[in-house]
Amino acid sequence: MGFDATVVRAQFPILDQQVNGKPLVYLDSAASAQKPQMVLDTMSSAYSQTYANVHRGLHYLSEASTDAYEAVRGKVAHLIGARSEKEIVFTSGATMALNLIAHCYGNTNLGEGDEVLISVADHHANIVPWHLLGGRVGSKTVAAPVDADGSFNMEQFKAHITPRTKIISVPHVSNVLGTVFPIAAIAALAHENGAICIVDGCQGVTHLPVNVTDLGCDFYVFSGHKLYGPSGIGVCWGRSEIWAGLPPFLGGGDMIDDVKTDRSTYAEPPLRFEAGTPPIVECIGLGAAVDFVQQIGMANLRDHEMDMLRYGHQRLASVQGLNFIGMAADKSGVISFTLDAAHPHDISTLIDQDGVAIRAGHHCAQPLMKFYGLGSTARASVGVYTQESDFDVLAEALEKVNRIFG
Ligand code: PLP
Repeated sequence: MGFDATVVRAQFPILDQQVNGKPLVYLDSAASAQKPQMVLDTMSSAYSQTYANVHRGLHYLSEASTDAYEAVRGKVAHLIGARSEKEIVFTSGATMALNLIAHCYGNTNLGEGDEVLISVADHHANIVPWHLLGGRVGSKTVAAPVDADGSFNMEQFKAHITPRTKIISVPHVSNVLGTVFPIAAIAALAHENGAICIVDGCQGVTHLPVNVTDLGCDFYVFSGHKLYGPSGIGVCWGRSEIWAGLPPFLGGGDMIDDVKTDRSTYAEPPLRFEAGTPPIVECIGLGAAVDFVQQIGMANLRDHEMDMLRYGHQRLASVQGLNFIGMAADKSGVISFTLDAAHPHDISTLIDQDGVAIRAGHHCAQPLMKFYGLGSTARASVGVYTQESDFDVLAEALEKVNRIFG
């Protein structure tokens, strides 16, 4: 299917509104993407026509709900090139997925003095679970730097691998710098050194075609709400052979094989890792979001976003006193910047008066902020509905900020 930006944009009802008397310009998709009508309709009809709990009822609605929920595993597996839908574990989001891996894989495979290698550009969701793991088993978290322009530096990264490195966990795309990490090379490096490779794909699968089998990583996680789906649902993909050997994360209904009063045995993956009533309708909504991006085509989506990113850089470069943070050659999704004249929080608050939504803060990446000697940045991020005029409005609003503070 060809890509028609106007047709795609018209599918997002929330974008058609005024904020503070100005047409909304939504440049905060990296925090959470907006939802197309087909996701809203799918969720509404799941609640109004087929809702019941899954995996446990023998009546029509429960079977319909279970079928709709389970069908999403296949859709996600297809989207990310997994070998089997049984490799897809649903979680509440990427944060939960990384905590799940840290518990199930980390508690079992790491011990005192073992190391988890991350990047200084990681989101807190891919940092703090490793600190917590360290508290449980005595492992250490080591962070490799990036280059000053935000590029991934393979030599520097390699220099941080030691015989104790057991896990390498990196972002596919940095949520601050936009740097695309060379996952296939990092996964190969991990395996050469006897480690596994975990990818935080929150900003990856949302912007790029992803094939986890080709990438060669061991786990790939993401959140539904950044992929035009609802919040409260996420994906933890892992290799079948790894899942098979792992103990459960949480215990309760749905994840068991047999329960006695004094002991239990557990279901096979993926259900072993999905204790309790899952976010049923959110999962079905994620399925609709996957259908949405598949209908557009991830390659078309990426090309459109790259056009927007190029235009955004060019347009913002003309703003007086604007400094880009993160200018790696392979960049996706976001444009982070500071303005000499104003603090990022003031920028965000002021341009909101012009209907422009961007993110300002540390972006849950405090180590990266410290690395650059910054407290915060402003960040404009693109989505499938972004248009050039969004950056025109942003640039004009920033010039206005310059005038106010100048
Ligand atoms: N990783 C990255 C790179 C992110 O951008 C985010 C969210 O901003 C997360 C992890 C955490 O995602 P969630 O809060 O949906 O679990």
